[in-house]
Amino acid sequence: MKSYLYENLNFSESYDYFFFNKELPIFLAIGPCAIENREMALDSINFCNRFNIKFFRAFLFKSRTSVYSFQGIGKDGIDILKEIKSDFPEIRLICEISTTEQYEIVKDYVDVFQIGARSMYNTELLTFLGEKNLPIILKRHFGANIYEWLNMAEYYLYSGGRRILLCERGIKSFESSYRYSFDILSSSFIKQYSKIPVIADPSHPSGNSLFVSDLALAAIVAGFKGLIIETHPDPRSALSDPSQQLSFTQFTEFFQKLKNLNSKIFDKKIIK
Ligand code: PEP
Ligand code: MN
Repeated sequence: MKSYLYENLNFSESYDYFFFNKELPIFLAIGPCAIENREMALDSINFCNRFNIKFFRAFLFKSRTSVYSFQGIGKDGIDILKEIKSDFPEIRLICEISTTEQYEIVKDYVDVFQIGARSMYNTELLTFLGEKNLPIILKRHFGANIYEWLNMAEYYLYSGGRRILLCERGIKSFESSYRYSFDILSSSFIKQYSKIPVIADPSHPSGNSLFVSDLALAAIVAGFKGLIIETHPDPRSALSDPSQQLSFTQFTEFFQKLKNLNSKIFDKKIIK
């Protein structure tokens, strides 16, 4: 029998864990596409801290389309994670993992495990993390429909996991002007069946920093409960996704727009 836990749970553990920052009515995470070296990691987390943002992208592993592309600094980055974790203990570090071996490498310093789009169907990993009730962000595969995405969330829930965010990051379509087509209705659709929180990644579908702000604001208006936005101290020199990462100046401008939007329509209440 299908249990469809996502239909019946109230996701209070997810809300408590991911929406604890009372200064922000949404979930917000920023940071580079990948940690490249100590200096840019420190610059980036200091920038994150300036905005009192409590979740930081501390990615050591990158699953790339091409084997010849930058794959992340991997376990060579552990000392960097250790340092930023001890300098900013109140900021929760997010790292994408695609295997349990990667989990073992980063587990002492990472708070939130991102399951990337390419790993959405990794039922073994979802079960492994669910059994430990570790916080996860489950991205939508770019070829998955909502039913398939929710069913993968169900693997995590079924094994006992209760701290989860779903993240819409766009799907493949015939449109090739930008990287992916962001599915603006997925949060509204899921809301009909479940209280599971759904957030948006406007960076990867945009593929271009020019579009990130518009898409991020649109997603919040459309009812997504949070954002993950790639930021880099010097996007042009980035080793991965150089064109879509926001410079610190671009993010600062965006944050002001988000605050203006917030004061107009959300009245500073946590969105539930
Ligand atoms: C990412 O968030 O760094 C990423 C690679 O996203 P996705 O898995 O959605 O492609
Ligand atoms: Mn990226």
